Amino acid sequence: MKKYNKISLCFDMAGCPNECLHCWIKDGNHGFVTEKEVRDYVDAFQGIAEELSVYTWYLEPDYLPNYKELWELEQTLSTKPHEHYELISDWRILRDPDYVKWLNEVGVKKCQLTFFGLEEKTNHFTGRQNAFSELVDTLEVLIENNISPRIQIFIYNSNIDEIQDLLNFLDSLNIKKKCNEKGLTFEYFSHTGSCVGKAMKLYDQWLTEDHIEKIPKALIHASLEHFNVKAVDEVYGISEKSLYEKLILDENSRTLEIHDIIFYIDGHLDVYPHFAVHQPWWKIGNLKTMKPEEIVEHYIHGQTFAQQLIRFTPIKEMVLKFGQVESNKVFLEEDYLDFITEKYLEYSYEKGR
Ligand code: SF4
Repeated sequence: MKKYNKISLCFDMAGCPNECLHCWIKDGNHGFVTEKEVRDYVDAFQGIAEELSVYTWYLEPDYLPNYKELWELEQTLSTKPHEHYELISDWRILRDPDYVKWLNEVGVKKCQLTFFGLEEKTNHFTGRQNAFSELVDTLEVLIENNISPRIQIFIYNSNIDEIQDLLNFLDSLNIKKKCNEKGLTFEYFSHTGSCVGKAMKLYDQWLTEDHIEKIPKALIHASLEHFNVKAVDEVYGISEKSLYEKLILDENSRTLEIHDIIFYIDGHLDVYPHFAVHQPWWKIGNLKTMKPEEIVEHYIHGQTFAQQLIRFTPIKEMVLKFGQVESNKVFLEEDYLDFITEKYLEYSYEKGR
């Protein structure tokens, strides 16, 4: 009997063609794990887990030219085969005619594309020239190849005024009709997205309570349906002021229960929990200097700088330090706590250096 039931290992072999302003993982510094390293470290983890799930990416899937081999590698190294996510490389799909056919072969039925408005805004927020025009072309390629598109729209105060224009533009492409004719679905939804990592720099652009009324009704309706919730504030959140007033009374610390062991392993072989920003306070260890078992124990016993600090810091202390009582920006409570926690961690880490 091995010590752990299941461990998922996600290696950054590929990087990402985008430089999204809202990226919660990546801030320019990523590297590339080699195939040999993937094989060697998966082998090392075999000794301690009954089941391993292996991925050769965690930024953009299928970005590397040998994506087929890497998919096979994942299936071979994983204890059980896994399905392809509803995420694809929208960079590759227009550059490699085989790719969409292969997506069909591996059973992809639906995939998600992200817009931030029309051309200039989508290019700006994605951090890539031609991102918008390529996404539009990708929509057509997907439909031609019987894959249902799902559109995710991130809204900030700087792009809210053109969200209706984006919906009108999508209407003008007859996407829904084209999908219907082929028996495909066409869904879209919006939200404000994560507010940690690079997205912390978007705080000034965050939606306020007043902005919610400007979101097109059709998009609100579609978003409620997508998230299967009834109230608008379950999608976009409530004001920072209300959250602040509630949370400064909270004497508890945050609990970071570990349900699954899922590691993100970057090009330097540094290991992070899958939900965390790649910052030094979340680093669990490095595979070159620690044994797999030590890495797992370090994590499940909460030994990272972040876990240790969060465990002993009352929520009210973090909110009193970094919350803005007069702010009417809207956040979901968990997202807001992540944001405030990250600010507190950064401050404490720098102070302790
Ligand atoms: S958000 Fe996703 S697509 Fe954008 S830079 Fe980050 S990993 Fe790449």
